[in-house]
Amino acid sequence: MAEKIVLLPGDGIGPEVTEQARRVLEAAGAREGLAFEFEEELIGGCSIDAHGTPLREEVIEKCRASRSVLLGAVGGPKWDDMPVDVRPEKGLLAIRKALGLFANLRPAQVLPALVEASALRPEIVAGVDMLVVRELTGGIYFGEPRGREGEKGDRRALNAMVYDEHEVARITRVAFEQARLRRNHVTHVHKANVLDVSQLWVEVVDEVAKDYPDVELAHQLVDSCAMLLVQEPKRFDVIVTGNLFGDILSDEAAMITGSLGMLPSASLAVGGFGLFEPVHGSAPDIAGKDLANPLAAIQSAAMLLETAFNAKAAAGAIRQAVADVLEAGHRSGDLLLPGENRETVGCERMGELVLAALA
Ligand code: NAD
Repeated sequence: MAEKIVLLPGDGIGPEVTEQARRVLEAAGAREGLAFEFEEELIGGCSIDAHGTPLREEVIEKCRASRSVLLGAVGGPKWDDMPVDVRPEKGLLAIRKALGLFANLRPAQVLPALVEASALRPEIVAGVDMLVVRELTGGIYFGEPRGREGEKGDRRALNAMVYDEHEVARITRVAFEQARLRRNHVTHVHKANVLDVSQLWVEVVDEVAKDYPDVELAHQLVDSCAMLLVQEPKRFDVIVTGNLFGDILSDEAAMITGSLGMLPSASLAVGGFGLFEPVHGSAPDIAGKDLANPLAAIQSAAMLLETAFNAKAAAGAIRQAVADVLEAGHRSGDLLLPGENRETVGCERMGELVLAALA
């Protein structure tokens, strides 16, 4: 029976990269006997244009009835002046909330062929392979009370960082389970020397850790973690942290790899349902020109296969195909080093090269 996957290509380069990811997903899935039925829907600016809202209830329902969702990107200058409540990005927040996607997984890996693309020295980044596990539906982005008061000269604004024990425990479990699939090490990142919320995190993470005696645990202050990520990124395997620290550190970890067009992500709900998307945005500057790098979207498809279908061999085959294509010297424009003079391939061609390497 065909497995239902909802495609939400979105805006800008979203449709271009999602199409290549779809082709690769189909080919890699077939190797493990998986067949997919794709349903394409609108999210973001294109949904605003067609329906006046960035995300319709029926799209959420279709996602709920599917095995997984593959998303491109949303947003663009066309919608930048719209009220915050109906902007494309609102569609992303709404779908995360509606599907209960509490765990954001962002791997950051430096492939041998791209060691030079990092802003850091090759000897520091060669071999980096980490996973940031960020809590996505709690913390200061959602805490109450929140708001503003007062007039000019006497203004005040307030946000609250709030976490319940069960929210901390469930994201910690995700991190430990992931560590078991990797190098068995978890670093919990916090600010427990100042924040009560972080003190609760330390307690709960220690309690959960007792169920994973085979996984080593370290606690790290967020400020020193930010330094260590640049100084010695290879020391990290899995990092687990709350929404705010995770937002910042996952971008820092991403930049160590030096290439936004390469980074996939997964956002998971209780029970393992997931939405998979590249980390990059809709890149309006290159949209519609066949210039986008589809490898982040393609690697998001690998995460989908691994997470939603336990299709580890198919996921591994995609990653190997990506590595082979880069090793053979093929580059999209974003992967060129400053001053490098090399022929580049477009989005569609890059997808074809990965498909050929898979075959
Ligand atoms: P961006 O990630 O879209 O682009 C940043 C730079 O990286 C641009 O120069 C772009 O051309 C380049 N780039 C990004 N992805 C690339 C790829 N796959 N291949 C080649 N080059 C790539 O970030 P931005 O410019 O800050 O934002 C543009 C729009 O995207 C905004 O509307 C923003 O709100 C939205 N956005 C959406 C998401 C999402 O959908 N998850 C994430 C970030 C930004």
